[in-house]
Amino acid sequence: MNFVDVEPTLENYWRAIILFGKNTASYKFALAKSLIDVSLDRNSDLISLEDLALPYAMHLCEHIKHSPKQNNRGSNGNGKFINACLAFNNNKMTEDELVNITNKEGFKYVLNAFHVVNTKAVQERFYDVIDEDFFIDERRFNKGIRLTDNLFKLFYVFDNSADNLNQETESRWNLVEKAWELNLSRNLIAVEFDQETKQLFTQDNKHRRVGITSSRGALNGYQKSRCFYCFKEISIAIQHELLAEVDHFFPHLLKPEVASAGCCRPVNVDGVWNLVLACSDCNRGTNGKFAQVPDIKLLERLHTRNEYLIGSHHPLRETLMMQTGKTDAERKQFLQKSFNFSRERLIHEWLPEQQGISVF
Ligand SMILES: [Zn+2]
Repeated sequence: MNFVDVEPTLENYWRAIILFGKNTASYKFALAKSLIDVSLDRNSDLISLEDLALPYAMHLCEHIKHSPKQNNRGSNGNGKFINACLAFNNNKMTEDELVNITNKEGFKYVLNAFHVVNTKAVQERFYDVIDEDFFIDERRFNKGIRLTDNLFKLFYVFDNSADNLNQETESRWNLVEKAWELNLSRNLIAVEFDQETKQLFTQDNKHRRVGITSSRGALNGYQKSRCFYCFKEISIAIQHELLAEVDHFFPHLLKPEVASAGCCRPVNVDGVWNLVLACSDCNRGTNGKFAQVPDIKLLERLHTRNEYLIGSHHPLRETLMMQTGKTDAERKQFLQKSFNFSRERLIHEWLPEQQGISVF
């Protein structure tokens, strides 16, 4: 087999920034969402920080309402900007005051940090803080940043792919803030899927269910709007005709079987390790999967996906390790056992025809 190099797309760059960077605070998500907002209303490439401040702060205010913890430091690590958002939410600050403080305090690190993935800035940028041709510091001389064509290409026409990226950004933000709130390593261990709401949820210390985020948004970052099984295009926009279905890789019907099997560890069929997004044909079409066992090729694909999430800084890293094993070898063994268990009971293997380019 020959290896081929691929050129990352703009979507890949956006996802790399939003999904796979390390997070210590949520400003990056708020900035991302405010960039999407301003790209839709294309007046000029130059946007002043004063104009960006309002949508940027509003996204944070909105999130603080349901998740007060917006960084991984203690509660006194908030700083002036977050405190201003809190005050605004409590009607103790006007919008003008909030914009003023945001402009001064809210952009300090995030503008330079936004494009950094794995310690280095990516080469395709969505805005510039320095005009490289004329060595103009946009922040100092123009009190703003310059939006690039890349941003407009991705978001100016708000179509299916822009909508998906926007939802993925939101899902990732929800995951990260819930991880901080619940103390990820301890409490996100049991992230599971709720069939009714299509949400991922976990349990807090008092064993109450806590919804985390839309499972579609959380899973699509890896799948890039392609069916896990056949690579046909899917969407995570609720109204879309190609709406993705959340599928249990190992069929759900095994749940009681597994629970009573008494072997090894209890297998959590609703665990995030076993969830993928599928097109409706694969999930329940004429030649759909139903309760058949995915082919061994697909099992390898699942392993690759889980290992990828574990290897990145994904908030579900710990969850996946708790559900399937601490080392690569343990996790392989776990999948093999689940496969054997399914194959011995469900017999039929299933492999759909490929419907699109393989992107993972
Ligand atoms: Zn499919």
